[in-house]
Amino acid sequence: MNGKKVLKKMFVLKYHPKNTFCVSPFTFRLNKVPLRLIMAHQIPDDGTLLPLMEEFYTIQGEGYHTGKAAYFIRLGGCDVGCHWCDVKESWDAELHALTAADTIAENASRFPSKAVVVTGGEPLIYNLDYLTNQLQEKGIKTFIETSGAYPLSGNWDWICLSPKKFKGPQESVASKAHELKVIVFNKSDFEWAEQHAKLVSPDCKLYLQPEWSKSKEMTPLIVEYVMNNPHWEISLQTHKYLNIP
Ligand code: SF4
Repeated sequence: MNGKKVLKKMFVLKYHPKNTFCVSPFTFRLNKVPLRLIMAHQIPDDGTLLPLMEEFYTIQGEGYHTGKAAYFIRLGGCDVGCHWCDVKESWDAELHALTAADTIAENASRFPSKAVVVTGGEPLIYNLDYLTNQLQEKGIKTFIETSGAYPLSGNWDWICLSPKKFKGPQESVASKAHELKVIVFNKSDFEWAEQHAKLVSPDCKLYLQPEWSKSKEMTPLIVEYVMNNPHWEISLQTHKYLNIP
């Protein structure tokens, strides 16, 4: 085995188009400062560096803002542990390169839609004050998708709370949510959804969304439920039907 093959066995080399190289567990950052080595888990609590899993420009597929163009920022790290999670690769924050919030905001500003969706993972693990301030200073609307499992940080134009059974939402998030989106995996989730509707403000939008793998089974039940309880609306993962990220 030659030297290159040995290196490939020892490290996972990943290039991120944001001035960073990640050689797990180290990140090489090629910003204004000289090349330096950052342990992935040394995430500063001022929010200036965040573990960025991916960022992409697409159409919001779910909830209140369905159909609108937006720049998505997916942060790595989640300890909520939903068994049906479709982004399990996001769970380990150390796999995702620490990236300057300034760079993330600058990237977002290059796209026509002035709306950003911060998602995860669970983005509220981190202090999002700095990132959201940078985005808003550039005239970008800030939306978040969160389980609410951690205290609220950041300045948000729209908060979508999608609570999970495995780690309940914090009051600081529930009371400020603009949208409550409950994922329906089985019949008992309707009662669970009603319990969480009591935690949000009276003008919070209420959505029931079938969990993707159970959608054939759950969608007819959701249709019937919404017809009988019209304060709820249906949310579908339209991006999956459109085959876009
Ligand atoms: Fe996955 Fe979201 Fe659940 Fe975390 S909270 S495990 S990212 S679905």
